[in-house]
Amino acid sequence: MARHFGAVVIGAGAAGLTAGIYLARARVKTLIVDEGVAGGQMVLTHAVANYPGVEETSGALLSRTMRAQAKRFGCEILTQTATRLIDLNAAPKRLEVEGEGEITADAVIIATGGRPRSLGLESEARLKGQGISYCATCDGDFFTDMEIVAIGGGNSALEEAVSLAKHASKVTIIHEFDHFQAQPWAVEAAKAEPRVEFMMAQEVMGFEGEVALEAVVVRDKQTDEVRRIPARGAFIFIGYVPTTEALQGHVTLNARGEILTDEGMATNIPGVFAAGDCRVKRYRQITTAVADGTIAALSAIEHISTR
Ligand SMILES: Cc1cc2nc3c(=O)[nH]c(=O)nc-3n(C[C@H](O)[C@H](O)[C@H](O)COP(=O)(O)OP(=O)(O)OC[C@H]3O[C@@H](n4cnc5c(N)ncnc54)[C@H](O)[C@@H]3O)c2cc1C
Repeated sequence: MARHFGAVVIGAGAAGLTAGIYLARARVKTLIVDEGVAGGQMVLTHAVANYPGVEETSGALLSRTMRAQAKRFGCEILTQTATRLIDLNAAPKRLEVEGEGEITADAVIIATGGRPRSLGLESEARLKGQGISYCATCDGDFFTDMEIVAIGGGNSALEEAVSLAKHASKVTIIHEFDHFQAQPWAVEAAKAEPRVEFMMAQEVMGFEGEVALEAVVVRDKQTDEVRRIPARGAFIFIGYVPTTEALQGHVTLNARGEILTDEGMATNIPGVFAAGDCRVKRYRQITTAVADGTIAALSAIEHISTR
């Protein structure tokens, strides 16, 4: 017989783990399933300095603490485990979880987050993992004393470039505009780092290297000059795409693939909620993911108790 849960949370990032903490504390039998590792994008973040109450920590440690907290309150957490939605409109809702078969739930919270956006270049795909990376925490120390580039101009790009400068001999920030989208404090921190240099208004044309990255080819948007920048590593920080492909045809998405929710994190399907970077929102941060997870869990608890 299918196992039944009060709530199933899909995704164990900041939003999903927070939802789990609130659900389990309210004694809702809760399963959190993640197709990857617990922590989501937090695991990619070298230093988190803007999570209130914690002066500075690593994304990895914050992930482990949130996971332990959810487990302590009684959440069941499955990682590296695929989920398939069978019928979210049914009561109870039906899902298939790898290794478990079909399970049912009174409420479902979707917290599938997002993943780093790629430039979409053929040479980028070919050299991914061979010098091209999207995670400073994971790969930064492979480039100790080497010259590398960081592509992007938002907070993440500048903050991660500063953390990469702890390893690399030089980090050149390549940005498509002549100004940064990052907050002034992030720009100031990057400018204060002697190993960080800047190339503004550049289009990345491609990456060169047979078996590993050797250079980045850029075009100056103001002069049209094409230049080859020698680099052993290229870190790409140009935003994110929501991970909602599996939700197509189940819940309402906008043109960018973000899940539409109301203030209570409710989707178009009663009893199905969405939280964190996978939903329509303006600011994507750990704090906002945690807030969404809290609201989604409280809404799910209300849904379950009024059924
Ligand atoms: C490089 C970088 C640096 C950042 N630095 C900061 C910072 O300093 N401070 C800050 O506040 N924010 C920072 N952010 C943003 C912050 O990490 C995110 O906004 C936040 O972690 C999003 O949490 P989430 O739970 O919504 O999604 P995610 O963290 O993306 O988690 C989603 C989880 O869902 C899982 N998943 C996806 N699809 C499925 C599926 N079909 N089935 C099962 N599981 C699935 C994924 O494996 C993942 O674990 C940074 C982001 C990046 C990329």
